Amino acid sequence: MSDTGRRVAIVGSGPSGFYAAEALLKDDRNLQVDIIDRLPTPFGLVRGGVAPDHQKIKNVIRVYERTAGNERCSFIGNVMVGRDVSVADLQRFYDAVVFTCGAETDRTLAIPGIDLPGSHTATAFVGWYNGHPDYRDLSFDLSGETAVVIGQGNVAVDVTRVLAKTVDELAGTDIAAHALEALAESKVREVHMVGRRGPVQAAFTSKEIRELGELGDCALHFNDQADFDLGPACRAELDDAGNTDAQRNWKALGELREAGPASGCSKRIVVHFFRSPKELAGDGRVQRLTLEKNRLAGDAGDQWAEGTGETVEMPCGLFFRSVGYRGVPIEGLPFDDRRGVFPNQGGRITGGGAALPGLYAAGWIKRGPSGVIGTNKPDSTETARNLLADLEGLAACAVPDTGALLAQLRDRGARPVSYEDWRAIDAAEVARGAAAGKPREKFTRVEEMLAVLD
Ligand code: NAP
Repeated sequence: MSDTGRRVAIVGSGPSGFYAAEALLKDDRNLQVDIIDRLPTPFGLVRGGVAPDHQKIKNVIRVYERTAGNERCSFIGNVMVGRDVSVADLQRFYDAVVFTCGAETDRTLAIPGIDLPGSHTATAFVGWYNGHPDYRDLSFDLSGETAVVIGQGNVAVDVTRVLAKTVDELAGTDIAAHALEALAESKVREVHMVGRRGPVQAAFTSKEIRELGELGDCALHFNDQADFDLGPACRAELDDAGNTDAQRNWKALGELREAGPASGCSKRIVVHFFRSPKELAGDGRVQRLTLEKNRLAGDAGDQWAEGTGETVEMPCGLFFRSVGYRGVPIEGLPFDDRRGVFPNQGGRITGGGAALPGLYAAGWIKRGPSGVIGTNKPDSTETARNLLADLEGLAACAVPDTGALLAQLRDRGARPVSYEDWRAIDAAEVARGAAAGKPREKFTRVEEMLAVLD
Protein backbone atom coordinates (compact mmCIF):
# COMPACT_ATOMS: atom_id res chain seq x y z
CA MET A 1 0.00 0.00 0.00
CA SER A 2 1.29 3.54 -0.68
CA ASP A 3 1.74 6.31 1.86
CA THR A 4 -1.49 7.26 3.54
CA GLY A 5 0.00 10.30 5.24
CA ARG A 6 -1.05 8.98 8.65
CA ARG A 7 1.14 10.28 11.43
CA VAL A 8 1.98 9.15 14.94
CA ALA A 9 3.97 10.94 17.66
CA ILE A 10 5.67 8.91 20.36
CA VAL A 11 6.49 10.77 23.58
CA GLY A 12 9.57 9.23 25.20
CA SER A 13 12.55 7.62 23.47
CA GLY A 14 13.29 4.80 25.89
CA PRO A 15 12.87 1.11 25.06
CA SER A 16 9.05 1.20 25.05
CA GLY A 17 9.09 4.19 22.68
CA PHE A 18 11.46 2.54 20.25
CA TYR A 19 9.60 -0.79 20.36
CA ALA A 20 6.32 1.05 19.66
CA ALA A 21 7.96 2.87 16.73
CA GLU A 22 9.37 -0.38 15.35
CA ALA A 23 5.94 -2.03 15.42
CA LEU A 24 4.19 0.99 13.85
CA LEU A 25 6.77 1.39 11.08
CA LYS A 26 6.21 -2.20 9.98
CA ASP A 27 2.60 -1.46 9.02
CA ASP A 28 2.07 -1.37 5.27
CA ARG A 29 0.19 1.95 5.45
CA ASN A 30 3.66 3.55 5.70
CA LEU A 31 3.08 5.75 8.73
CA GLN A 32 5.33 8.66 9.66
CA VAL A 33 6.51 8.15 13.24
CA ASP A 34 8.16 11.00 15.17
CA ILE A 35 9.77 10.23 18.53
CA ILE A 36 9.84 13.18 20.93
CA ASP A 37 12.03 13.32 24.05
CA ARG A 38 12.58 16.01 26.64
CA LEU A 39 16.34 15.36 26.58
CA PRO A 40 18.61 15.94 23.58
CA THR A 41 19.72 12.30 24.01
CA PRO A 42 17.61 9.24 23.12
CA PHE A 43 17.24 5.79 24.76
CA GLY A 44 15.75 6.72 28.15
CA LEU A 45 16.76 4.36 30.95
CA VAL A 46 19.22 2.49 28.72
CA ARG A 47 21.34 5.64 28.95
CA GLY A 48 20.16 7.06 32.28
CA GLY A 49 19.16 3.98 34.29
CA VAL A 50 21.12 0.86 33.32
CA ALA A 51 24.15 0.68 35.58
CA PRO A 52 27.43 1.83 34.01
CA ASP A 53 29.08 -1.51 34.80
CA HIS A 54 26.37 -3.31 32.77
CA GLN A 55 27.64 -2.11 29.38
CA LYS A 56 26.53 -5.22 27.54
CA ILE A 57 22.87 -4.51 28.30
CA LYS A 58 23.32 -1.22 26.45
CA ASN A 59 24.02 -3.08 23.19
CA VAL A 60 20.24 -3.14 22.74
CA ILE A 61 20.69 0.42 21.45
CA ARG A 62 21.75 -1.07 18.11
CA VAL A 63 18.18 -2.29 17.59
CA TYR A 64 16.84 1.20 18.32
CA GLU A 65 19.39 2.75 15.97
CA ARG A 66 17.98 0.65 13.13
CA THR A 67 14.50 1.99 13.90
CA ALA A 68 15.80 5.56 14.08
CA GLY A 69 17.46 5.04 10.68
CA ASN A 70 14.09 4.36 9.01
CA GLU A 71 13.35 7.25 6.63
CA ARG A 72 9.79 7.48 8.02
CA CYS A 73 11.06 7.96 11.59
CA SER A 74 12.30 11.24 13.09
CA PHE A 75 13.74 12.04 16.49
CA ILE A 76 12.77 15.36 18.05
CA GLY A 77 14.87 15.74 21.19
CA ASN A 78 15.09 18.52 23.77
CA VAL A 79 11.33 19.08 23.53
CA MET A 80 9.20 18.58 26.61
CA VAL A 81 5.50 17.87 26.38
CA GLY A 82 3.81 20.09 28.92
CA ARG A 83 6.53 22.76 28.65
CA ASP A 84 7.36 23.29 24.95
CA VAL A 85 4.29 21.69 23.46
CA SER A 86 0.91 20.61 24.87
CA VAL A 87 -0.96 17.37 24.28
CA ALA A 88 -3.60 19.35 22.36
CA ASP A 89 -0.83 20.86 20.18
CA LEU A 90 0.49 17.40 19.38
CA GLN A 91 -2.98 16.32 18.32
CA ARG A 92 -2.97 19.12 15.72
CA PHE A 93 0.13 17.62 14.12
CA TYR A 94 -0.48 13.88 14.59
CA ASP A 95 -3.40 11.48 14.14
CA ALA A 96 -2.35 9.56 17.23
CA VAL A 97 0.03 10.10 20.15
CA VAL A 98 1.64 7.25 22.11
CA PHE A 99 2.98 8.12 25.55
CA THR A 100 6.02 6.06 26.50
CA CYS A 101 7.36 8.46 29.09
CA GLY A 102 8.14 5.87 31.76
CA ALA A 103 7.98 6.34 35.52
CA GLU A 104 10.03 9.40 36.32
CA THR A 105 9.69 9.67 40.07
CA ASP A 106 9.77 7.38 43.12
CA ARG A 107 7.30 5.77 45.43
CA THR A 108 7.42 7.49 48.80
CA LEU A 109 8.53 6.03 52.11
CA ALA A 110 6.74 7.85 54.89
CA ILE A 111 8.92 7.47 58.00
CA PRO A 112 10.09 10.10 60.48
CA GLY A 113 13.40 11.64 59.39
CA ILE A 114 13.02 10.74 55.70
CA ASP A 115 13.74 14.35 54.70
CA LEU A 116 16.96 14.67 56.73
CA PRO A 117 20.10 15.49 54.73
CA GLY A 118 21.79 12.23 53.79
CA SER A 119 18.47 10.53 52.92
CA HIS A 120 17.99 10.13 49.16
CA THR A 121 16.03 8.27 46.53
CA ALA A 122 17.75 5.59 44.51
CA THR A 123 16.49 7.39 41.39
CA ALA A 124 18.55 10.46 42.29
CA PHE A 125 21.72 8.44 42.91
CA VAL A 126 21.25 6.39 39.72
CA GLY A 127 20.61 9.56 37.68
CA TRP A 128 23.68 11.19 39.24
CA TYR A 129 26.14 8.39 38.52
CA ASN A 130 24.68 7.98 35.04
CA GLY A 131 25.14 11.67 34.20
CA HIS A 132 21.44 12.51 33.78
CA PRO A 133 21.17 16.33 33.55
CA ASP A 134 18.33 16.45 36.13
CA TYR A 135 20.64 15.06 38.82
CA ARG A 136 23.94 16.61 37.73
CA ASP A 137 24.22 19.06 40.59
CA LEU A 138 23.33 16.74 43.44
CA SER A 139 25.96 15.70 45.91
CA PHE A 140 26.09 12.66 48.14
CA ASP A 141 28.02 12.70 51.37
CA LEU A 142 30.20 9.61 51.09
CA SER A 143 32.29 10.48 54.14
CA GLY A 144 30.50 8.06 56.52
CA GLU A 145 31.32 4.35 56.84
CA THR A 146 27.79 2.96 56.62
CA ALA A 147 25.22 3.24 53.85
CA VAL A 148 21.78 1.62 53.89
CA VAL A 149 19.66 0.79 50.85
CA ILE A 150 15.99 0.01 51.47
CA GLY A 151 14.39 -2.38 48.98
CA GLN A 152 15.58 -5.52 47.25
CA GLY A 153 14.75 -4.91 43.61
CA ASN A 154 17.43 -4.76 40.93
CA VAL A 155 17.74 -1.00 41.38
CA ALA A 156 18.66 -1.54 45.05
CA VAL A 157 21.23 -4.12 43.91
CA ASP A 158 22.67 -1.63 41.38
CA VAL A 159 23.01 1.08 44.03
CA THR A 160 24.54 -1.36 46.52
CA ARG A 161 27.04 -2.64 43.94
CA VAL A 162 28.12 0.79 42.72
CA LEU A 163 28.73 1.86 46.34
CA ALA A 164 30.73 -1.30 47.00
CA LYS A 165 32.89 -1.44 43.88
CA THR A 166 36.44 -0.18 43.70
CA VAL A 167 37.26 2.76 41.48
CA ASP A 168 39.17 0.40 39.19
CA GLU A 169 36.03 -1.68 38.72
CA LEU A 170 34.10 1.41 37.61
CA ALA A 171 36.77 3.38 35.77
CA GLY A 172 36.42 1.67 32.38
CA THR A 173 32.63 2.16 32.27
CA ASP A 174 30.56 5.11 31.08
CA ILE A 175 29.97 6.29 34.67
CA ALA A 176 29.84 10.10 34.81
CA ALA A 177 33.21 11.69 35.60
CA HIS A 178 31.81 13.68 38.55
CA ALA A 179 30.49 10.46 40.12
CA LEU A 180 33.71 8.53 39.62
CA GLU A 181 35.64 11.39 41.21
CA ALA A 182 33.33 11.44 44.24
CA LEU A 183 33.29 7.64 44.60
CA ALA A 184 37.10 7.59 44.48
CA GLU A 185 37.04 9.55 47.75
CA SER A 186 34.25 7.47 49.30
CA LYS A 187 34.73 6.32 52.89
CA VAL A 188 31.75 3.95 52.72
CA ARG A 189 32.87 0.53 53.95
CA GLU A 190 29.55 -1.16 54.71
CA VAL A 191 26.46 -1.25 52.53
CA HIS A 192 23.33 -2.78 54.02
CA MET A 193 20.59 -3.85 51.59
CA VAL A 194 17.36 -4.27 53.51
CA GLY A 195 14.23 -6.15 52.38
CA ARG A 196 10.91 -6.11 54.20
CA ARG A 197 10.06 -9.70 53.21
CA GLY A 198 12.11 -12.90 52.92
CA PRO A 199 14.52 -14.50 50.46
CA VAL A 200 11.67 -16.23 48.59
CA GLN A 201 9.91 -12.90 47.94
CA ALA A 202 13.01 -10.85 47.02
CA ALA A 203 12.46 -8.76 43.87
CA PHE A 204 16.05 -9.00 42.58
CA THR A 205 17.02 -11.57 39.97
CA SER A 206 19.62 -14.31 40.39
CA LYS A 207 22.24 -12.90 38.01
CA GLU A 208 22.19 -9.59 39.89
CA ILE A 209 22.43 -11.10 43.40
CA ARG A 210 25.26 -13.38 42.28
CA GLU A 211 27.20 -10.34 41.10
CA LEU A 212 27.30 -9.04 44.69
CA GLY A 213 29.40 -12.08 45.56
CA GLU A 214 31.92 -11.39 42.79
CA LEU A 215 33.20 -7.94 43.68
CA GLY A 216 36.90 -7.10 43.77
CA ASP A 217 37.28 -5.85 47.33
CA CYS A 218 33.96 -6.57 49.02
CA ALA A 219 32.70 -9.51 51.07
CA LEU A 220 29.03 -10.51 50.93
CA HIS A 221 27.33 -11.31 54.25
CA PHE A 222 23.80 -12.29 55.19
CA ASN A 223 22.56 -10.67 58.36
CA ASP A 224 20.80 -13.69 59.85
CA GLN A 225 21.08 -17.28 58.64
CA ALA A 226 17.76 -18.03 60.38
CA ASP A 227 16.06 -15.94 57.68
CA PHE A 228 16.56 -18.92 55.38
CA ASP A 229 14.51 -21.32 57.58
CA LEU A 230 11.37 -21.47 55.48
CA GLY A 231 7.90 -21.81 56.96
CA PRO A 232 5.22 -23.82 55.15
CA ALA A 233 3.86 -20.84 53.13
CA CYS A 234 7.33 -19.84 51.86
CA ARG A 235 8.11 -23.48 51.08
CA ALA A 236 4.86 -23.71 49.08
CA GLU A 237 5.73 -20.50 47.19
CA LEU A 238 9.15 -21.85 46.33
CA ASP A 239 7.72 -25.21 45.23
CA ASP A 240 5.26 -23.52 42.85
CA ALA A 241 6.49 -24.61 39.42
CA GLY A 242 5.75 -21.17 37.93
CA ASN A 243 7.88 -19.32 40.47
CA THR A 244 11.12 -19.71 38.52
CA ASP A 245 12.60 -16.34 39.54
CA ALA A 246 12.33 -17.30 43.22
CA GLN A 247 13.78 -20.76 42.52
CA ARG A 248 16.78 -19.27 40.71
CA ASN A 249 17.26 -16.76 43.52
CA TRP A 250 17.06 -19.51 46.14
CA LYS A 251 19.73 -21.49 44.32
CA ALA A 252 21.97 -18.43 43.94
CA LEU A 253 21.51 -17.47 47.59
CA GLY A 254 22.31 -21.04 48.67
CA GLU A 255 25.55 -21.01 46.68
CA LEU A 256 26.55 -17.58 47.98
CA ARG A 257 25.92 -18.69 51.58
CA GLU A 258 27.86 -21.86 51.06
CA ALA A 259 30.81 -20.00 49.55
CA GLY A 260 30.77 -17.64 52.54
CA PRO A 261 32.11 -14.09 52.59
CA ALA A 262 35.39 -13.48 50.78
CA SER A 263 38.27 -12.81 53.15
CA GLY A 264 40.72 -9.92 53.20
CA CYS A 265 38.27 -7.37 51.74
CA SER A 266 38.11 -3.78 52.90
CA LYS A 267 34.37 -3.43 52.24
CA ARG A 268 31.31 -5.52 53.01
CA ILE A 269 27.73 -5.81 51.86
CA VAL A 270 25.19 -7.11 54.36
CA VAL A 271 21.85 -8.41 53.04
CA HIS A 272 18.99 -8.20 55.56
CA PHE A 273 15.58 -9.82 55.20
CA PHE A 274 12.38 -9.27 57.24
CA ARG A 275 13.24 -5.71 58.26
CA SER A 276 11.38 -2.44 57.63
CA PRO A 277 12.70 1.07 58.23
CA LYS A 278 10.87 2.83 61.08
CA GLU A 279 12.79 6.02 61.70
CA LEU A 280 15.82 7.98 60.60
CA ALA A 281 17.44 10.22 63.17
CA GLY A 282 20.51 12.37 63.60
CA ASP A 283 21.83 15.76 64.53
CA GLY A 284 21.07 17.83 61.43
CA ARG A 285 21.66 14.85 59.14
CA VAL A 286 21.13 11.11 58.94
CA GLN A 287 23.15 9.25 61.58
CA ARG A 288 20.97 6.41 62.85
CA LEU A 289 18.31 4.13 61.44
CA THR A 290 15.75 2.14 63.38
CA LEU A 291 14.56 -1.06 61.73
CA GLU A 292 11.60 -3.13 62.82
CA LYS A 293 11.69 -6.88 62.54
CA ASN A 294 8.88 -8.35 60.43
CA ARG A 295 7.08 -11.63 60.09
CA LEU A 296 5.08 -12.69 57.06
CA ALA A 297 1.28 -12.79 57.09
CA GLY A 298 -1.14 -14.10 54.48
CA ASP A 299 -1.20 -17.15 52.24
CA ALA A 300 1.46 -18.58 49.96
CA GLY A 301 1.81 -16.34 46.91
CA ASP A 302 0.25 -13.40 48.73
CA GLN A 303 2.35 -12.85 51.82
CA TRP A 304 2.99 -9.40 53.19
CA ALA A 305 5.32 -8.05 55.88
CA GLU A 306 3.87 -7.41 59.31
CA GLY A 307 5.85 -5.63 62.05
CA THR A 308 6.61 -7.62 65.21
CA GLY A 309 7.24 -4.54 67.36
CA GLU A 310 10.85 -5.62 67.91
CA THR A 311 13.27 -2.92 66.74
CA VAL A 312 17.01 -2.62 66.20
CA GLU A 313 19.04 0.53 65.74
CA MET A 314 22.06 0.82 63.47
CA PRO A 315 24.44 3.57 62.40
CA CYS A 316 23.61 5.03 58.98
CA GLY A 317 25.59 7.80 57.31
CA LEU A 318 23.81 7.61 53.97
CA PHE A 319 20.31 6.34 53.29
CA PHE A 320 18.71 5.36 49.98
CA ARG A 321 15.14 4.33 49.45
CA SER A 322 14.80 2.05 46.45
CA VAL A 323 11.17 1.05 46.77
CA GLY A 324 10.05 1.38 43.16
CA TYR A 325 9.47 4.06 40.56
CA ARG A 326 6.25 5.94 39.86
CA GLY A 327 4.82 7.67 36.79
CA VAL A 328 4.07 11.42 36.75
CA PRO A 329 0.97 13.07 35.27
CA ILE A 330 0.99 15.16 32.08
CA GLU A 331 -1.43 18.08 31.79
CA GLY A 332 -4.31 17.21 29.51
CA LEU A 333 -4.26 13.46 30.22
CA PRO A 334 -6.10 11.41 32.85
CA PHE A 335 -3.92 9.90 35.58
CA ASP A 336 -4.44 6.94 37.89
CA ASP A 337 -2.95 8.41 41.03
CA ARG A 338 -3.05 5.17 42.99
CA ARG A 339 -1.00 3.21 40.44
CA GLY A 340 0.98 6.13 38.97
CA VAL A 341 0.02 5.26 35.37
CA PHE A 342 -2.23 6.60 32.61
CA PRO A 343 -5.47 4.60 32.87
CA ASN A 344 -5.72 2.45 29.76
CA GLN A 345 -7.12 -0.66 28.19
CA GLY A 346 -4.51 -2.50 26.17
CA GLY A 347 -2.64 0.80 25.76
CA ARG A 348 -5.72 2.84 24.74
CA ILE A 349 -5.79 5.70 27.26
CA THR A 350 -9.18 5.91 28.92
CA GLY A 351 -11.11 8.73 30.57
CA GLY A 352 -14.25 7.87 32.53
CA GLY A 353 -13.83 4.27 31.38
CA ALA A 354 -13.98 5.06 27.64
CA ALA A 355 -11.02 5.12 25.25
CA LEU A 356 -9.90 8.65 24.34
CA PRO A 357 -9.51 8.69 20.53
CA GLY A 358 -5.93 8.94 19.32
CA LEU A 359 -4.24 8.71 22.75
CA TYR A 360 -2.20 5.65 23.71
CA ALA A 361 0.36 4.50 26.29
CA ALA A 362 3.07 1.84 26.40
CA GLY A 363 5.80 0.76 28.81
CA TRP A 364 5.96 1.74 32.48
CA ILE A 365 3.42 4.58 32.15
CA LYS A 366 1.00 1.93 30.85
CA ARG A 367 1.61 -1.06 33.15
CA GLY A 368 3.69 0.32 36.05
CA PRO A 369 7.44 0.03 36.69
CA SER A 370 8.08 -3.68 36.26
CA GLY A 371 10.05 -6.04 34.07
CA VAL A 372 13.32 -5.84 32.19
CA ILE A 373 14.04 -3.96 28.94
CA GLY A 374 12.74 -6.82 26.78
CA THR A 375 9.40 -6.86 28.64
CA ASN A 376 8.61 -3.62 26.83
CA LYS A 377 8.63 -5.20 23.40
CA PRO A 378 5.40 -7.23 23.69
CA ASP A 379 3.89 -4.42 25.76
CA SER A 380 4.57 -1.78 23.08
CA THR A 381 3.59 -4.17 20.30
CA GLU A 382 0.18 -4.63 21.93
CA THR A 383 -0.36 -0.87 22.03
CA ALA A 384 0.79 -0.49 18.41
CA ARG A 385 -1.55 -3.28 17.31
CA ASN A 386 -4.52 -1.58 18.95
CA LEU A 387 -3.57 1.81 17.48
CA LEU A 388 -3.26 0.30 14.00
CA ALA A 389 -6.66 -1.37 14.41
CA ASP A 390 -8.15 2.02 15.33
CA LEU A 391 -6.33 4.02 12.66
CA GLU A 392 -9.04 4.02 9.96
CA GLY A 393 -11.51 5.46 12.43
CA LEU A 394 -9.20 8.19 13.78
CA ALA A 395 -9.72 11.70 12.45
CA ALA A 396 -6.86 13.06 10.35
CA CYS A 397 -4.92 15.77 12.16
CA ALA A 398 -5.27 19.42 11.10
CA VAL A 399 -1.58 20.02 10.23
CA PRO A 400 0.08 16.85 8.94
CA ASP A 401 3.55 18.39 8.83
CA THR A 402 6.55 17.79 11.12
CA GLY A 403 8.23 20.91 9.68
CA ALA A 404 5.32 23.03 10.92
CA LEU A 405 5.65 21.55 14.41
CA LEU A 406 9.39 22.28 14.42
CA ALA A 407 8.73 25.86 13.28
CA GLN A 408 6.20 26.32 16.10
CA LEU A 409 8.66 24.94 18.62
CA ARG A 410 11.43 27.27 17.45
CA ASP A 411 9.02 30.23 17.55
CA ARG A 412 8.42 29.40 21.18
CA GLY A 413 12.15 29.38 21.93
CA ALA A 414 12.72 25.62 21.93
CA ARG A 415 15.83 24.15 20.29
CA PRO A 416 14.76 20.77 18.84
CA VAL A 417 17.54 18.20 18.42
CA SER A 418 17.39 15.83 15.44
CA TYR A 419 18.77 12.30 15.25
CA GLU A 420 21.66 13.67 13.20
CA ASP A 421 22.33 16.18 15.98
CA TRP A 422 22.31 13.31 18.50
CA ARG A 423 24.85 11.45 16.39
CA ALA A 424 27.16 14.47 16.63
CA ILE A 425 26.72 14.56 20.43
CA ASP A 426 27.28 10.80 20.54
CA ALA A 427 30.50 11.05 18.49
CA ALA A 428 31.79 13.84 20.75
CA GLU A 429 31.05 11.77 23.88
CA VAL A 430 32.77 8.69 22.44
CA ALA A 431 35.83 10.77 21.52
CA ARG A 432 35.99 12.26 25.04
CA GLY A 433 35.69 8.77 26.50
CA ALA A 434 38.47 7.31 24.38
CA ALA A 435 40.95 9.65 26.01
CA ALA A 436 39.94 8.30 29.44
CA GLY A 437 39.69 4.62 28.41
CA LYS A 438 35.89 4.75 28.72
CA PRO A 439 33.22 3.79 26.16
CA ARG A 440 32.07 7.42 26.34
CA GLU A 441 32.32 10.45 28.58
CA LYS A 442 28.77 11.72 28.77
CA PHE A 443 27.85 15.36 28.62
CA THR A 444 25.85 15.87 31.78
CA ARG A 445 24.33 19.27 31.07
CA VAL A 446 21.94 20.09 28.25
CA GLU A 447 23.93 23.25 27.45
CA GLU A 448 27.10 21.18 26.94
CA MET A 449 25.23 18.92 24.52
CA LEU A 450 23.85 21.87 22.57
CA ALA A 451 27.27 23.52 22.48
CA VAL A 452 28.50 20.56 20.38
CA LEU A 453 25.90 21.52 17.77
CA ASP A 454 25.98 25.29 17.67
P1 NAP B 1 11.06 -3.47 42.22
O1 NAP B 1 11.67 -4.60 41.50
O2 NAP B 1 9.59 -3.32 42.18
O3 NAP B 1 11.55 -3.56 43.76
C1 NAP B 1 11.06 -2.70 44.73
C2 NAP B 1 11.54 -3.17 46.09
O4 NAP B 1 11.11 -2.22 47.05
C3 NAP B 1 10.96 -4.51 46.53
O5 NAP B 1 11.96 -5.22 47.23
C4 NAP B 1 9.83 -4.11 47.46
O6 NAP B 1 9.50 -5.07 48.43
C5 NAP B 1 10.46 -2.91 48.12
N1 NAP B 1 9.50 -2.02 48.75
C6 NAP B 1 8.43 -1.41 48.20
N2 NAP B 1 7.80 -0.65 49.11
C7 NAP B 1 8.49 -0.78 50.26
C8 NAP B 1 8.35 -0.26 51.57
N3 NAP B 1 7.35 0.59 51.87
N4 NAP B 1 9.24 -0.62 52.50
C9 NAP B 1 10.25 -1.46 52.22
N5 NAP B 1 10.45 -1.99 51.01
C10 NAP B 1 9.57 -1.66 50.04
O7 NAP B 1 11.61 -2.06 41.70
P2 NAP B 1 13.04 -1.55 41.20
O8 NAP B 1 14.17 -2.18 41.91
O9 NAP B 1 12.91 -0.07 41.23
O10 NAP B 1 13.10 -2.02 39.69
C11 NAP B 1 12.13 -1.62 38.71
C12 NAP B 1 12.17 -2.60 37.55
O11 NAP B 1 13.37 -2.42 36.80
C13 NAP B 1 12.16 -4.05 38.00
O12 NAP B 1 11.35 -4.80 37.14
C14 NAP B 1 13.61 -4.45 37.87
O13 NAP B 1 13.84 -5.84 37.68
C15 NAP B 1 14.04 -3.65 36.65
N6 NAP B 1 15.50 -3.48 36.66
C16 NAP B 1 16.24 -4.45 36.09
C17 NAP B 1 17.62 -4.39 36.13
C18 NAP B 1 18.43 -5.50 35.54
O14 NAP B 1 17.89 -6.30 34.79
N7 NAP B 1 19.71 -5.60 35.82
C19 NAP B 1 18.26 -3.31 36.76
C20 NAP B 1 17.47 -2.32 37.34
C21 NAP B 1 16.08 -2.42 37.30
P3 NAP B 1 8.19 -5.98 48.27
O15 NAP B 1 8.54 -7.04 47.29
O16 NAP B 1 7.94 -6.48 49.63
O17 NAP B 1 7.08 -5.08 47.74
